[in-house]
Amino acid sequence: MARFYITTSIMYANARPHVGFALEMIQADAVARYRRLMGDEVVFCTGTDEHGTKVMRTAEQAGTPTQEFVDRVAAEVGTLARRLNTSNTDFIRTSDRVRHWPAAERIWRELVARGDLYKRSYEGYYCVGHEAFIKESELENGLCPLHKSTPERLQEENWFFRLSKYRDDIRKLIESGRLAIVPETRTKELLNLLDDAEDVSFSRPAQQLPWGIPVPDDPTQTMYVWADALTNYISVLGYGTDEARMAFWPASVHLIGKDILRFHAMVWPAMLISAGLEVPRAIFVHGFITVDGQKMSKTLGNVIDPLELLDQQPADVVRYFMLREIPSTEDGDFSWKSLESRYVSDLANGLGNLVQRIATLIETKLGGTLTIGSFDQETEKILEDLRDTKGYHAAFADFRLHEALAHVWTRIGIANQYINDREPWKQEGEAQALTLRAVAAMVLHIAWLLQPFMPETAEKIGATFGVALTETIRSDARVSITKGSPLFPRPEKK
Ligand SMILES: [Zn+2]
Repeated sequence: MARFYITTSIMYANARPHVGFALEMIQADAVARYRRLMGDEVVFCTGTDEHGTKVMRTAEQAGTPTQEFVDRVAAEVGTLARRLNTSNTDFIRTSDRVRHWPAAERIWRELVARGDLYKRSYEGYYCVGHEAFIKESELENGLCPLHKSTPERLQEENWFFRLSKYRDDIRKLIESGRLAIVPETRTKELLNLLDDAEDVSFSRPAQQLPWGIPVPDDPTQTMYVWADALTNYISVLGYGTDEARMAFWPASVHLIGKDILRFHAMVWPAMLISAGLEVPRAIFVHGFITVDGQKMSKTLGNVIDPLELLDQQPADVVRYFMLREIPSTEDGDFSWKSLESRYVSDLANGLGNLVQRIATLIETKLGGTLTIGSFDQETEKILEDLRDTKGYHAAFADFRLHEALAHVWTRIGIANQYINDREPWKQEGEAQALTLRAVAAMVLHIAWLLQPFMPETAEKIGATFGVALTETIRSDARVSITKGSPLFPRPEKK
């Protein structure tokens, strides 16, 4: 059995979970479930990034002790994962002194041993929104171009990490494809950034930043939040504590948002090389979500809270919409209107109607049972095309999840078309039975394909037909209908 290790980024714990993080979790879950379907042993991790100035200040403003504040955010992220029905096998928190801190301390010591950490005084602009120093040349009218806030001018003594030393190693890993960055536009972006990669500040004075992991053997300093947070990907495997699960390293893929590419594709690989560890196999970069074509912002009042979204829609509907409407590697738009229209056309009228129609026909025309059996040549040809999964697997291989889903919906269209052409309600005897057997075989194949995306729906379809889902449904499979409530009830007309 092959091992597959997939991670989301860990969510920065300064606010309630946001919809972009929900998207990342859903994408990661679809891939994790797909790999399990392919027979891999999958470790799938998510969690929360809980240190840093921004978290400390947000907790202060809320009048809550910092630990209590991050406990609450971590619980909300856990709730979000559960309600999205994600199949993560682990959840890591950077404030966890038992599981996470020893790993961060161990990698720090490895970097020191390699001579890659050195102390110097530094003066620069620190953007709290970024939790990073930004170059003066990157400022726009004195403001951080992303956060539109004035960075803090800091002069302090910090530990620095020799990132510049690893430029060539990282370039080779990326250019050879050993470290894949998906999509390719991000590969180019990263290679450009790499040219000017300078050493990075890896600690802050403990007086300025008491909320974090103390630098080993130098308690006057606190580890820089990124040095600490990136380590989550190995602390969760027991690095520095109980390393049996380090057999899953290197990660098969890290899923991240485009704003944190350089930390994951430069700083993290450099840390790993320095510590004598392998770099991840792939970094998959998704885009951002806009709402009605606009950037989400508190000022505009258009922020989508994923937990509120899940109060209104079942997990599978949210999962379907996010994975279908938002191209996996690009920015995508959320609107209630497109959610409603996808629901009606794709789910209620497309998939839901197909399953409902065929189950009812099998009940009324065949007494609720049938054996799949064999087919005429024309039907056999249609089934063969429908079961051609090359496009589906290729889409997964390249993280084009929306295309894998489109592949499934093409098949729903074929099955609905087949019923409409054959009109089984007008047929009789053997001809009628053949149509129903064929559509049952189609629906069961479709349900198999749906599992990574809409696990609950796939399971319900299997239960309706009384058949365990397999990639190719056997000709001796016996269908026995047990109808439940409709999969996707049509919204009431207003
Ligand atoms: Zn910023």
